[in-house]
Amino acid sequence: MLLAAVLAAIGSACAHLPSDGAELQPGVEPPKKSRVSLRLSSGVLPQGGVGLLWIDSELASTSGKAKPLVSWEDRMLPVFALPAGSSRPGADFFALLPVPHDALPGIADVRVTSGEGGSAEAASISFRIEERVTEAERVRVKRRHAQVRGRARRTAVVAPPVRGALTRLYDAISEERLWSESWRLPAPGEITGVFGAKRVYNSRVQGYHLGLDIRARTGDPVAAPAGGRVVLAARLFLTGNTVIIDHGLGVYTNYAHLSRLKVRRGQLVRVGELVGLAGNTGRSSGPHLHWGAVVHGIKVDPLALTQLWRDFPLETPG
Ligand SMILES: [Zn+2]
Repeated sequence: MLLAAVLAAIGSACAHLPSDGAELQPGVEPPKKSRVSLRLSSGVLPQGGVGLLWIDSELASTSGKAKPLVSWEDRMLPVFALPAGSSRPGADFFALLPVPHDALPGIADVRVTSGEGGSAEAASISFRIEERVTEAERVRVKRRHAQVRGRARRTAVVAPPVRGALTRLYDAISEERLWSESWRLPAPGEITGVFGAKRVYNSRVQGYHLGLDIRARTGDPVAAPAGGRVVLAARLFLTGNTVIIDHGLGVYTNYAHLSRLKVRRGQLVRVGELVGLAGNTGRSSGPHLHWGAVVHGIKVDPLALTQLWRDFPLETPG
């Protein structure tokens, strides 16, 4: 159902600089044609969705390596150069647009500035943020996991090598894309918990479920959905045995409640490679796989990410 919604949201949006609408007058130079053009993977993105923005800038390509600047509200978004012979002829750069699960539904504007000084040009493109409607999920967990107070959370959540550093971990951006194939699901089971659902642990509302739950038995294999580098393989308080993979470009995925870790920090993994075994460790009410995805520090729906890379594989030659 969710996948269908994501598919339905795939459209296309286009924007250019204000076109040369002014009437020509003698002695007045005609307005310059836009030198920055923008395209979005979709004109509609759900809360927790991810969009791709392609930037074609004559300014950037003639002046060399200068990357355009991309901002959305008060946030600067990382920009990457498209590889030569990529699937988007006419685009030099791209940026990923992760939509927070609590972003206000409505029209959002992304601004792009290209070039420097007097020759700089700005352009913008809009898309619509769609509300994600989910039902509340009730979960029974051990009492010590139902209520986590500030100090316990700070000291217990993160293992020593990365204590208090999960946020910084996700903020690191590898410019190199570490996957090449289409993304897969990490486990074959049925989806039992969707992204964005309100979570009620032991009758108390505790926030939102910002990942995907996949049915699995203890010991079932959990595979990397795409190539990447393991940046964490450790036992944490809430997520139990946890693996985090850096896929490059600010894209991370995580795997929680594992019974066994099968990788080490720093290890490179390929698509389909075993990273752990499903289990019931941490704050979990039964064996399953919790699969999370993070783009530029924002938690997004792993299915939206998987679908995005299926629809727009960056490496396919045009
Ligand atoms: Zn979960």
